[in-house]
Amino acid sequence: MSAPLADLGPETKLARAQALAAAWEGKSPQEILAHALREEFVGKIAMVSSFGAESASLLHMVAAIDPNAPVIFIDTDKHFAQTLDYQQELSAFLGLKNVQIVKPDPTEERIEDPKGDLWKRDPDACCTLRKVRPNERALAGFEAWISGRKRHHGSVRAHLPVVEHDGIHFKVNPLVAWGPKEINAYVAQYKLPPHPLVAEGYPSIGCWPCTSPSDGENARAGRWAGSGKTECGIHRPVPGGPGKRQQAF
Ligand code: SF4
Repeated sequence: MSAPLADLGPETKLARAQALAAAWEGKSPQEILAHALREEFVGKIAMVSSFGAESASLLHMVAAIDPNAPVIFIDTDKHFAQTLDYQQELSAFLGLKNVQIVKPDPTEERIEDPKGDLWKRDPDACCTLRKVRPNERALAGFEAWISGRKRHHGSVRAHLPVVEHDGIHFKVNPLVAWGPKEINAYVAQYKLPPHPLVAEGYPSIGCWPCTSPSDGENARAGRWAGSGKTECGIHRPVPGGPGKRQQAF
């Protein structure tokens, strides 16, 4: 019998992630999710979703495999009202039964961002307060999480493996190989409701202060536009991978 995941050392976990990445490369997103949820990380894995422009397809796949799978939504207190409504509507539509809404710590928020304008002065600190720490608290009881990052997003995501280990958690990226064509076809096939802001020119949707409409080739160009910031930090650096924390939203 193999040792429980939690008892494996860091190097063993890294090797396990690399072996899984090689074994699951080329499999469909549904196959990857089924392996992760039903075999490799049973009861120890959560999905983290922004309920953004591209979230519906992966959430639909998770719901089809296990509607009780934990889905973490970080309510930063800076989301568009449309995102909060969409989170409720899409969760009900998909029959998700275990959506866990996490928020910034109120004491930290009061001390570090009393006026709610930290995003203007120090967006990295704002993301740490409103995304990184809540995400880390939410994932404390899990060995692995599922993210919706895709290689077509480019930059540090261009060579994403299907499975990573960041020193604390395994991360499963079922949609790495999918682009807009596959996503749009899936959404159309299952008639999944779109985020309402997509029709208003937002191909990527995060917090309202840091999201702009975008019609360029890079869907993420509207995130922190003009600031040079491209990452929120919820993705810890992966050993042997790109050095900076990566953005998932
Ligand atoms: S995306 Fe903007 S508002 Fe949201 S947590 Fe980061 S800096 Fe703050």
